[in-house]
Amino acid sequence: MAYDRIVVKIGTSTITGGSSQVDMPRLIDLVRQLAWMMDRKIQISLVTSGAVAAGRELLNYPHLSKHIPGKQMLSAIGQPRLMSIYMDLFRMYGYLASQILLTRRDFVQRRSYLNARNTLDGLLNQRVVPVINENDTVATEEIRLGDNDTMSAFVSGLVGADLLVLLTDQEGLFDSNPEANPEAKLIKTIDSPEIPEFVWEGAGGSASGLGTGGMLTKVRAADIARRMGTAVMITNGNIPDILIRIAAGERFGTVFR
Ligand code: GLU
Repeated sequence: MAYDRIVVKIGTSTITGGSSQVDMPRLIDLVRQLAWMMDRKIQISLVTSGAVAAGRELLNYPHLSKHIPGKQMLSAIGQPRLMSIYMDLFRMYGYLASQILLTRRDFVQRRSYLNARNTLDGLLNQRVVPVINENDTVATEEIRLGDNDTMSAFVSGLVGADLLVLLTDQEGLFDSNPEANPEAKLIKTIDSPEIPEFVWEGAGGSASGLGTGGMLTKVRAADIARRMGTAVMITNGNIPDILIRIAAGERFGTVFR
């Protein structure tokens, strides 16, 4: 299928390559692929985490309590760093990046929703890349989406994306925890109107939290996005040229139709 609008979500583990630092070669490679898609007239929105991790790196790994204010402070330090990296990298490929910071409130208040939608439409039509993150500074418990998987699902609805790609460090969604069960099978397609129970269980059933810890939010996000008409692919961001190959029609990991 040919895609017009794709939302790509990159998580902290992808941005840091599992380390405690921003993994520049990794970001260069991802932006190269995003630019490849833009060269082919696909409109890209990028939902990116990593502000807190970048802030922590810049402050030289301070000992802070895990409270929201500590993370908000780190995010305030790291977000501009993240943006300056994206601005520079996209510029190398001849594209402009822009910053969009949103909270849950912006999706439930009609006026904010429409403003955000108009802004995103305007940017996409100008072939500028919206680089989107949660507005951590003001996002306290009541107005937080809390994770960028959910954010990327709402953004997919906002821009009317054909496809949401959730890049992770796993191959996709398994019917049980692959780290605990060597027989675990990759779930390739989910196209029933309701996501089957075993999928929810496979995503949340990990007692250790290893590997599948983030899968539950991904399934929830996929459920939200597909209800708004966006197909979702959960796949491994380490696969060479993954975004280019997806845009060229290949399918990877788990696809929700
Ligand atoms: N907004 C947070 C950050 O940029 C990340 C939220 C998430 O990991 O989903 O660090």
